[in-house]
Amino acid sequence: MGDSYDPFFSWKALAWPEQCRAIAAGQLPWPVQMTVYPTNRCNRNCRGCIMAAERQNGAELSENVFASLVDEANLLGVASMHIAGGGEPTLYQPLRHVARFRGTAVLSTNGTFLSRRICSWFKRVRVSVNAGSPRTYAEFTGTSEDAYRQLVCRLVNACERPRPWDIGLGMIADRQSPEDIARFVALADHVGADWVHIRPVYYPRGTPEAEDVVRNWPGISGAALEAGRTSRCRVFCVSDKFSGYWSARDYLKCRATPLVAVVCADARLAVCQDVFTKWGDLNTQSFAAAWTSDEHYAAMRQIDLDACPRCIMNRHNEVLEHAFVNNECLLEVL
Ligand code: SF4
Repeated sequence: MGDSYDPFFSWKALAWPEQCRAIAAGQLPWPVQMTVYPTNRCNRNCRGCIMAAERQNGAELSENVFASLVDEANLLGVASMHIAGGGEPTLYQPLRHVARFRGTAVLSTNGTFLSRRICSWFKRVRVSVNAGSPRTYAEFTGTSEDAYRQLVCRLVNACERPRPWDIGLGMIADRQSPEDIARFVALADHVGADWVHIRPVYYPRGTPEAEDVVRNWPGISGAALEAGRTSRCRVFCVSDKFSGYWSARDYLKCRATPLVAVVCADARLAVCQDVFTKWGDLNTQSFAAAWTSDEHYAAMRQIDLDACPRCIMNRHNEVLEHAFVNNECLLEVL
């Protein structure tokens, strides 16, 4: 992989042609990825957290459900398992079972309890830092400046080489200043991270906060890319894969949800990472039984594109509709 290749390539559904062909043919394949929210408990209260409503129920997967899910994902040939929140996944005691997953395990964490032991269960770790200084961190996360200093110590430890895992720092951008963005990239360089990943926060369409995000994004991404020119870290600013108020929705039907299963902390499945229409119950049925149930088909039929908020599967839907359903790619034309 050269330095110019973008591993956050948003058209990645093209790498899953079998599943895309099956969906285009009206079938329901096993998911390529599972996104699992093992717990809704969190020790932070970050600005713009998209899981704020979901976290209210304080739910947590039982150890038995989580361990069985990992085993079943192996049996079904699921390629990747993304452990995220919900709440903060490293607060979840049975997390170690993920080490048995045979595909690519990825962790998204706020880093407060990160250790090399936890990192060793994953191929890739993304630590949400969201700030470039103790003051802006305390402001963004609703904690203290000391919490930032402790996080930096954790990051230095987790990034120390040699290590088999890949690790990067994340930022959800809303109104950070260009100076704070530059300090954030410098922090990633200082702790020895491999990359930084910056994406815009989601606020409901039409709100003043959403308008601020759109207005501030060019300055934020520009400052990050500029800081990245002298950094050893690679800098990725990702906004194009999201629909909502910053990119167009160029498809008529949502078909992408079967590519990624979303398992919530209450042991129910959600339609996608943005729409919490739920079905199934892993406390009483296997993942396979829930996935193939009539309830799942009914949940997919209920999708109303006009009611969808930010769509993280925007590009997947474009690929499915234009490349696989309508066969519109002019492959013959060089
Ligand atoms: S946000 Fe809507 S369009 Fe996007 S994946 Fe979810 S249900 Fe489908």
